[in-house]
Amino acid sequence: MNIGLVAHDAKKKLMQNFCIAYRGILSRHEVYATGTTGRLVEEVTNLNIHKYLSGHLGGTQQLGAKIEHNEIDLVIFLRDAITAKSHEPDVNNIVRLCDAHNIPLATNLATAELLILSLDRGDFEWREMYK
Ligand code: PGA
Repeated sequence: MNIGLVAHDAKKKLMQNFCIAYRGILSRHEVYATGTTGRLVEEVTNLNIHKYLSGHLGGTQQLGAKIEHNEIDLVIFLRDAITAKSHEPDVNNIVRLCDAHNIPLATNLATAELLILSLDRGDFEWREMYK
């Protein structure tokens, strides 16, 4: 399956720790991420990540285009709901695209853990048929 990752600056450390904790599961899938998020996760996990441009330089739109082509099966966008900076990408477009294409989306750690464990259990096999 193809997993999309984005983390606002205040959540990047959390994303790194999440990916360290679930490295085993992530390693069995393809991971796509905005530039900085992808680089930081690669540094700590040694996973091979498909990296887009940095979020504010268009990386979020690149990930959005892949969602629109129905090529992403699960999105984890750890957003900073309190102090998100203006240069950080808007979460709304990703939410809209995931809703339009019925793609599982987590915007916080609690849901991210549920989704990654569900993925590992095979709960998203229906995505293969859907594609
Ligand atoms: P980044 O994009 O992973 O390139 O930083 C997300 C953001 O800008 O918050």
